[in-house]
Amino acid sequence: MSARLHLRPGKEKPLRQRHPWIFSGAIQRVQGQPAPGEIVAVHAADGAWLAWAEFNPHSQIRARAISWEQAWPDEAFWRARLAASIARRRQLLPAAFAEVGACRLVFAESDGLPGLIVDRYGPHLVLQALTAGAEARKAETVRHLVDLLQPASIVERDDPMRGKEGLPPAAGALYGQPPAEPALIDEQGHRFLVDLAGGQKTGFYLDQAGNRADLAPYCAGAEVLNAFSYTGAFSVYALAAGARHVLNLDASAEALDLAARNLALNGFGPERWALMQADVFTQLRVWRDADPQAGGRRFDLIILDPPKFASSRGQIDRAARGYKDINWLAMRLLRPGGLLATFSCSGLIDRDLFQKILFAAALDAGREARILRQFSQAVDHPVLLTFPEAAYLKGCLCHVA
Ligand code: SAH
Repeated sequence: MSARLHLRPGKEKPLRQRHPWIFSGAIQRVQGQPAPGEIVAVHAADGAWLAWAEFNPHSQIRARAISWEQAWPDEAFWRARLAASIARRRQLLPAAFAEVGACRLVFAESDGLPGLIVDRYGPHLVLQALTAGAEARKAETVRHLVDLLQPASIVERDDPMRGKEGLPPAAGALYGQPPAEPALIDEQGHRFLVDLAGGQKTGFYLDQAGNRADLAPYCAGAEVLNAFSYTGAFSVYALAAGARHVLNLDASAEALDLAARNLALNGFGPERWALMQADVFTQLRVWRDADPQAGGRRFDLIILDPPKFASSRGQIDRAARGYKDINWLAMRLLRPGGLLATFSCSGLIDRDLFQKILFAAALDAGREARILRQFSQAVDHPVLLTFPEAAYLKGCLCHVA
């Protein structure tokens, strides 16, 4: 018999409403000695059956529900979950399944597969197992993925979240021979090299695909600053749409090296772009302080796509100050009538708070700003209505007078 979790009285409502997270404080008692990642039966205080969940004694999120059906989640169950997740992408993004297409195939809780990330980069897959449950069924997941997709290779990438879940670091080949060179992908007709083994996250920011396309038309004729450029994805779209010049600003030399290759690969000569390795916070101040006549740059359009500033509630205030800082400075560096495309991928900073931060930034910059458009994460990063926490990427296109 499987181990059981008994919830405290009154703590079953979120689970009944199909929210998958069971926090340690909701649990009255654990019956049996489930190992990390083991599937347990969850019961309400009155004994009523609730769900199957994956247990992790080392996480604040003590268990993650996977099924509300009484049938035991067997191999066929997991395979069907994966197949359904892939089928949704085939339906929404058929081009992503072309030879060098790319997309996120599995987005964890949003696809009913807690803690599991799978991205497709042409014939190669990149996998992350971020919870004890995802870790425990990793080998089985690899088998199903091979069977369903016949990939050339599957590479595992590490993530700081594994540590929080009490999991050791993990990275390397899970199947086949991962490519020694960056893999080539096509995103909406643009080509990119992706470092599957050494790049950030799983190698490429697939979550911004739709936003890159939405922003492109506004870049025509503009002198663009792509701050936190990573490997230049926004820059390629901007130049293809007729931007006059794009400056890629990032702290990572490896990212900028790959940006140069990506820009050349898409046919853009070096007269239309430049690379600068610097800290964005520092560099924006340098430009603000310098006279525009003497090296103080000004831009028509600035893209701000920083990394996640807040990964816990305790970091929200500091993160908010960071967002305000870069946005205030960027507004100062825009020519009158310039456009600011600004993003936050911190899930803990919601859209309302982000808009308040932009309001404060505009006040401090002494500029009148208007939101023209809202941005969110790409369609292969869906938000299950019962799990709103999956919505993490937000952004605005602002006109700055
Ligand atoms: N817009 C990119 C993704 C940006 S990811 C895309 O569409 O692909 C965030 C980037 O910010 C990373 O490349 C990281 O190297 C860079 N970065 C993080 N902190 C930075 C800092 N303080 N100054 C400059 N770059 C930074």
